[in-house]
Amino acid sequence: MMNERNHYHNEKMETLPQRELAAIQEKRFREILQYSYDNSVFYKKSLDRLGLKPEDVRSIRDLQDAKFFTTKDDLRLSYPFGMLAVPREKVVEMHATSGTTGTPALGLHTEKDLRDWGEVAARSLVMSGLTSKDVFQITPSLGMFSGGFGFYHGARAVGCTIVPASAGFSKRQIQFMLDFGTTMFSAIVSYAFRLAEVAAEMGIDPAKDTKVRKGIFGSEIWTKGMKQKVSELWDMEPFDVYGFTELCGPGVGNDCSMHDGLHMWQDYYLIEVVDPKTGEPLGAEEEGELVFTTLTKEAMPLIRYRSRDVSKLLDSPPACECGRTHRKYREIRARVDDMLKISGVNFWPSEVETVLLKEKDLGPEYRIHVYTENSVDRVRISVESRQKVLGESERSKLAGKLANDLHDVLLFKPEVEIVAPNSLPRVEVGKAVRVVDERKKTSLQP
Ligand code: ZN
Repeated sequence: MMNERNHYHNEKMETLPQRELAAIQEKRFREILQYSYDNSVFYKKSLDRLGLKPEDVRSIRDLQDAKFFTTKDDLRLSYPFGMLAVPREKVVEMHATSGTTGTPALGLHTEKDLRDWGEVAARSLVMSGLTSKDVFQITPSLGMFSGGFGFYHGARAVGCTIVPASAGFSKRQIQFMLDFGTTMFSAIVSYAFRLAEVAAEMGIDPAKDTKVRKGIFGSEIWTKGMKQKVSELWDMEPFDVYGFTELCGPGVGNDCSMHDGLHMWQDYYLIEVVDPKTGEPLGAEEEGELVFTTLTKEAMPLIRYRSRDVSKLLDSPPACECGRTHRKYREIRARVDDMLKISGVNFWPSEVETVLLKEKDLGPEYRIHVYTENSVDRVRISVESRQKVLGESERSKLAGKLANDLHDVLLFKPEVEIVAPNSLPRVEVGKAVRVVDERKKTSLQP
């Protein structure tokens, strides 16, 4: 399927034979381990504690055997500059996770790190259809959150016209789209829906009245059903981008026009999948936690960093039909910490979303509410009906059907209520809150 999307930002590196990529990884892995040991107090101490010298480590397997990991807690305990491998004055830009669950984790970058981030983000943007002729609107926040700047550094490397609108002010976002002829935008997934709602309130149909036909989305877990809805609302082909602050931000990997997994940039990251409970490495097609080793980071290298994101390496042919050779991973299905446990049963919020979005009369907004009644865990799922308001009896019939469908998937029967369109709270800036767990008195979404 050759079309204008099948072009590259860096053809040579994006189509390098797998054997050559593996050789680059091996060489860079040994270099980054030595560099981290020599320059980071944290890594010197951690490796010394295990009696490991970088020169004795032949491959990642030696670190697997030693159960060596870096965790988010290590980053928090080292806050703010304990993980640095360069003098502080070499750091030119910094980002932070939201920190709603405690001390934030930081992403720290030298000038070279920013160029590398721009390179991977540009490859991902071009994979999503961005060209130098586009007007590209950035709707994630340009601030401590790494989302906005990742798209910015990438778009600078591509050389398009950038509209750095940043987060919020939805009416103004739509006005900019109309005034500047925006052809592509980047967003947190749920914001693509919010923008379409605001456009509708302004009497504008995003699919017909704007020039936006391309979109790149990240930061939230989303199902195929959600993608279908975004694509209908905006008349576009949505692309998935992956990344997180501690590595850089968006750009670590991206799905191509085949839409069957995300190519992750192997010349920058060595990626493993491990059992989240035991830490044991898993093989292709086995679902587990993604673990990243940065192969080129100067300011804050990370060795075997546990991402808490659940995915799997696809057992796909060495070269994708899009021409890229970098290994593909399944779209992120869940975060380890988002798993809900209800009376001994475990489930992911995305399993609920998949069932809800099969119903064409239901809108994309929903809320999973977990609470305790008489010492028993209960789950209530509220989901909005679409524009046409359903009658009382239709609503209760549909709610009953959904409760049964969810029972089959979750193995317990939740309460389901169908609520009016636009009645659930919306998030203007940041990630949607779809799970409210009263048992913990906190939201599970960071
Ligand atoms: Zn591909």
